[in-house]
Amino acid sequence: MGIAVVVGGGCSGVLATRELLRTGWHVVLVDPGARPGRGLAYSTADPWHLLNSPAAAMSADPDRPDDFLRWCRQRDPRTGPADFVPRSWYGDYLTEVLRAADETAQGRLTVQRGRVARIFEPSVNGGPLTVLLTDDVVIPADRVVLALGHPAPSAPARLDAAAARSGAYVADPWRPGALAGLPEGPILLIGTGLTAVDVALTLANAGRRDLTAVSRHGLLPQPHRRPAAASATAPGGPAAAAQAGPAQVTAAQTVAALPELLAAGSVAGLLRSLRRLAADTGDWRAVFDALRPHWDALWQSLPEPGQRRFLRHLARYWEVHRHRMAPAVADGIGALRESGSLRVRAAELCGIEAADEGVRVVLRERHGGAITAPTFAAVVNCTGPGRIVESDPLVRALVAEGMARPGPYRLGLDTDPHGALLRRDGSAHPALWTLGPTRRGVLWETTAAPEIRTQARALAVALGDAGRDRAPVAECVES
Ligand SMILES: Cc1cc2nc3c(=O)[nH]c(=O)nc-3n(C[C@H](O)[C@H](O)[C@H](O)COP(=O)(O)OP(=O)(O)OC[C@H]3O[C@@H](n4cnc5c(N)ncnc54)[C@H](O)[C@@H]3O)c2cc1C
Repeated sequence: MGIAVVVGGGCSGVLATRELLRTGWHVVLVDPGARPGRGLAYSTADPWHLLNSPAAAMSADPDRPDDFLRWCRQRDPRTGPADFVPRSWYGDYLTEVLRAADETAQGRLTVQRGRVARIFEPSVNGGPLTVLLTDDVVIPADRVVLALGHPAPSAPARLDAAAARSGAYVADPWRPGALAGLPEGPILLIGTGLTAVDVALTLANAGRRDLTAVSRHGLLPQPHRRPAAASATAPGGPAAAAQAGPAQVTAAQTVAALPELLAAGSVAGLLRSLRRLAADTGDWRAVFDALRPHWDALWQSLPEPGQRRFLRHLARYWEVHRHRMAPAVADGIGALRESGSLRVRAAELCGIEAADEGVRVVLRERHGGAITAPTFAAVVNCTGPGRIVESDPLVRALVAEGMARPGPYRLGLDTDPHGALLRRDGSAHPALWTLGPTRRGVLWETTAAPEIRTQARALAVALGDAGRDRAPVAECVES
């Protein structure tokens, strides 16, 4: 029976494991955490950290789109399909998904606590890959699936070494306990996206009242539409309920406009068509939601200069419209801004230097260009996940050895359409695969649960039935 090692036990790792067990593989799931299934997004226990997708969208099971909603209703029967539940619920759900998969697989799942340091090609013809953990545990593997998820944020370019070393700078707000015990006084959040929103709520709930969030554009994520009271009982099941009414009409209009969008061929043309569609339908949210399954095709339809232009000029606007805040989260942020506890500034970071009492930050205002240099008691890097190709030692080693290569714009790793890693020479590696955020760049929509569950199913299909048509590694390497 084939052995597949899944590296990483977040949402991607759990969903890949579930699918590989279904197709007969023996799976070794390796993750450093004590509670596989949660990963970065769902480890939080804070009740104000809500999912940014409605419950109806978050099933782990492609065959049962309402699986998560049903699970939620066991916990709270009032949960509607358009409700935004705490992220910790989703962590509990994924833990349950893994437990159920383990039970069905009858001894074919091993969960190994640890961190993979290196992966080596077979040393003898026909042999397995060797997976080496940092504590020297060695696991032979017929296939390896990298489910590495999100790396820690990259350091801001203008951060000086003394400031980085000072206790006043938080390099990674997701590290457990990172926000506890920050010095008294004003706090600067670098970034105004969903990470900054999470951090602002956590700090405010800890009683901090002097928060500033800064980014070049000063744009906060847009809020989701508030769930309609009737949605829970709308006919046609939860997915229909979440889409019912005018949104459904907009979705149909959007899909009808796809050929035009795909033919746009340039960022300006795409933007023009999108604006027109949003104006004609009067519901940009429904346009964005309907386009979601088609964004990869739209991304891939742009020639390289268009993709670069999109990344430089449009990606931030796309992010704030696509990755929206739950209504209750938007209310919380709105209240903080109204009370003056949270200020949002559009400014460029020109320097972050250690000061006597904290950190001095040089800011150039976006409009008007005025330069200020306020001092903050603490600075928290809320720029979101960094770039895995630069920051992850396992990925760096794979790239150095030619077993993998960076994907477009170094946003992730290069893969074939099924998720097999592309080697330095561009050929698909027969035994090394990936899914989720590591595929960013090849794909555009690849970080959220609906895309991950689809990729996990496709990956298991591509790897084949472990007991039936598994090709030995060496045979594949030679082919
Ligand atoms: C704050 C936040 C909120 C989000 N909210 C939503 C949401 O509401 N809805 C939605 O659909 N999506 C949401 N997302 C998107 C999210 O990317 C996916 O839903 C999903 O959590 C990604 O899971 P992952 O397993 O790929 O990554 P991660 O959660 O980052 O998990 C990767 C795991 O791999 C482990 N790992 C890494 N390297 C190694 C190694 N060398 N050896 C062993 N283990 C390793 C890590 O320790 C980690 O446990 C959110 C993301 C963030 C950051």
